[in-house]
Amino acid sequence: MKVAIVGGGIVGLFTAYFLKKEDVDITLFEKADLGSYSVHAAGLIEPYRFDKINSTSMIIKMLKYSLRGTTYIRNVNKFWLKELLKNLNKNPPEDAWKTMREMAEFSLKAYKEMAEEKNDFNYRDDGLYEVYLREEDLEKGLEEEKKSPFNPKFEKVDFEGFAGAIFFPGLSRISTEKFIDRMKNELRGVKIVNKEIQSLDELKDFDEIVLTSGIWTTKFISNLPVTAFKGYGYRVKGTPKYNKPLVLVDDGIAISPFEDFIKITGGFDADSSYDSSRAQLVLDKSSRIVDISFIYEMNMGFRPCSPDGFPIIGKRDNITVATGACRLGWSYAPAMGKYTTDLVLGRLKDLGYISRYVKF
Ligand SMILES: Cc1cc2nc3c(=O)[nH]c(=O)nc-3n(C[C@H](O)[C@H](O)[C@H](O)COP(=O)(O)OP(=O)(O)OC[C@H]3O[C@@H](n4cnc5c(N)ncnc54)[C@H](O)[C@@H]3O)c2cc1C
Repeated sequence: MKVAIVGGGIVGLFTAYFLKKEDVDITLFEKADLGSYSVHAAGLIEPYRFDKINSTSMIIKMLKYSLRGTTYIRNVNKFWLKELLKNLNKNPPEDAWKTMREMAEFSLKAYKEMAEEKNDFNYRDDGLYEVYLREEDLEKGLEEEKKSPFNPKFEKVDFEGFAGAIFFPGLSRISTEKFIDRMKNELRGVKIVNKEIQSLDELKDFDEIVLTSGIWTTKFISNLPVTAFKGYGYRVKGTPKYNKPLVLVDDGIAISPFEDFIKITGGFDADSSYDSSRAQLVLDKSSRIVDISFIYEMNMGFRPCSPDGFPIIGKRDNITVATGACRLGWSYAPAMGKYTTDLVLGRLKDLGYISRYVKF
């Protein structure tokens, strides 16, 4: 069986990884470098920190963030907006949460097992601190966790200089840069073609086509409701005030310190443009937590967001789509790659709610 994968971001890389274990002839098409639009991420494997986007409280949160300048709204996909408004405050069926819980567990385990084979990507399972400035927001956060369909382990802890934090002991983190190198090694022997696919007609010699093209999937399926939320990731040298992985909830900044560098990420802009002029804000907001002495690099990326934040994975005819996981693309990528593989091979027909938008 000849399979074409369009897009070598983290979801496409995991799809190629699982397909390679089968008797399949894979060609992976990537217009830029492998992983170049995923590498900016913080590398927090945090599937339990899922946000349902289609709620009034989320929209109010976004508007508050935009008043503070933390977020910026330049453009959104019109099909995404229509679906968001149509489904505002609606809850998904229970099967959606069941699939998400399975995907969360599968993904956490996949990174752990790959690290057990060889930890060449700074895998750490030292948990994650969600840090709050205001006591009332911390209490609200704790209440939300108590109701979470993921039923995660968490505890309220003191955090010097802040109202406190929610600590999630079951979460892990990695270096995205080193993980992409690991994937390049894992995919030795797979045909990787550095080319931008313009139309699916170019792929008519393939039996199966997989679209893991992030926000650009809409080029092939024009009414797919996926929009871009842009952000930035810095790899820096410096001294962190706290030697712990943390998310500053009020500023939407994540900080993940390793021995050889610190990863700092942020930005949640509704914006599909390549303008990176707001990247500096991320450094400014992190300056009270990290004393930066050197910047190794900055990368920009686009969270491919569905209208409710749930991934979109499904198959029609010989085309399988896997995208939409928004803030948590790295956290769900192993499961997205595995389920995509099972769809391609005909082992799975459908993923219920998670396949909801695959109707082209
Ligand atoms: C600041 C920030 C921090 C983040 N931190 C985390 C985190 O800590 N944990 C987490 O779980 N998630 C995180 N995310 C989210 C995560 O980065 C994304 O969800 C994920 O990278 C999306 O991966 P993808 O493979 O779906 O898409 P992409 O990485 O965008 O990959 C799509 C690929 O397809 C290629 N492509 C597109 N069209 C074509 C074409 N026509 N022909 C050939 N190639 C094509 C593109 O070049 C690209 O490489 C973060 C996001 C941001 C912005």
